[in-house]
Amino acid sequence: IKKVGVLTSGGDAPGMNSAVRAVTRTCLTHDIEVFGIFDGFAGLHAGNIKQLQRNSVSDIINRGGTFLGSARFPEFKEESVRKEAIKQLEKFGIDALIVIGGDGSYMGALKLSEMGFPCIGIPGTIDNDIAGTDFTIGFMTCLNTIVDAVDRLRDTSSSHNRISIVEMMGRHCGDLTLWASVAGGCEYVIVPEIDFDEDALIKQIMDGEEKGKKHAIVAITEHVTDVTALAKRIEAKTKRETRATVLGHIQRGGAPMAFDRILASRMGAYAVELLLEGKSARCIGIQCAKMVDHDIIECLTDMKRPFRKDLYELSNILY
Ligand code: ATP
Repeated sequence: IKKVGVLTSGGDAPGMNSAVRAVTRTCLTHDIEVFGIFDGFAGLHAGNIKQLQRNSVSDIINRGGTFLGSARFPEFKEESVRKEAIKQLEKFGIDALIVIGGDGSYMGALKLSEMGFPCIGIPGTIDNDIAGTDFTIGFMTCLNTIVDAVDRLRDTSSSHNRISIVEMMGRHCGDLTLWASVAGGCEYVIVPEIDFDEDALIKQIMDGEEKGKKHAIVAITEHVTDVTALAKRIEAKTKRETRATVLGHIQRGGAPMAFDRILASRMGAYAVELLLEGKSARCIGIQCAKMVDHDIIECLTDMKRPFRKDLYELSNILY
């Protein structure tokens, strides 16, 4: 391996910069040239590629987002588009690619590997929805941002005896909601992994009020239901002011926490080591505090993310 490309793809996540920095500096330490590919697979297809030096990644370990940019580029599902992308890589003499992103990005990396171009995937997504890793880069920082928001909502909800519904990101994974419920002491937790029973929720809220609860915070993952409509129905039945707050893109931003910086640094360095060992179509994880790697196909098909039922139960005990 003489030249390595690196790109960030899918939704941005705090810590992606730390991962790009780690890839770059580990490569340079091994006398491998590094090329930053801008705007994900779209930039790869367009040939938006620049060589990175040690100082190209100075002062980014602490910055949120991704300085390489990211993009959604569904066209990459077409083989002809990927063929052109490989031509771009060949033009620069790049012999392997490190893809930092979510499961969609892994699919892109897998397809390139199947076409003979070596790729390694690093899990960069706030959602924590990737199999084979306990944590994805960005999850912890996003979680902290959510918990900060929940704390603020609790102050005002408690003062006004209000019910607050807080919609959190996670796509089809309830991890952010689950962990935020435990850390934020939310009264009710609704995640995609558990069927949502609206009547049971309303009954629980009313029971809570009878027990003297001044406020109710309902943590809910996006896409489960329309939270504004839900707030109206709860208000009609409980006769208590009910507001829905959609945290939205605020959750994605901000400086990465130390945890994500260290995770990203370890994963970036590990990805380069795998390439040096001649490996391809692997994706990286952290399991029980150790760096691990898995076959990307297995990760995307056979491996399941375990639902943290223990945290769900804990949240329901501690509320
Ligand atoms: P996040 O979970 O944070 O949204 P993601 O990586 O899952 O991140 P996606 O938008 O699903 O985000 O995928 C990122 C990009 O990966 C897509 O825009 C597309 O370029 C590429 N990609 C996704 N699915 C495929 C596929 N089946 N084949 C080839 N490329 C794909």
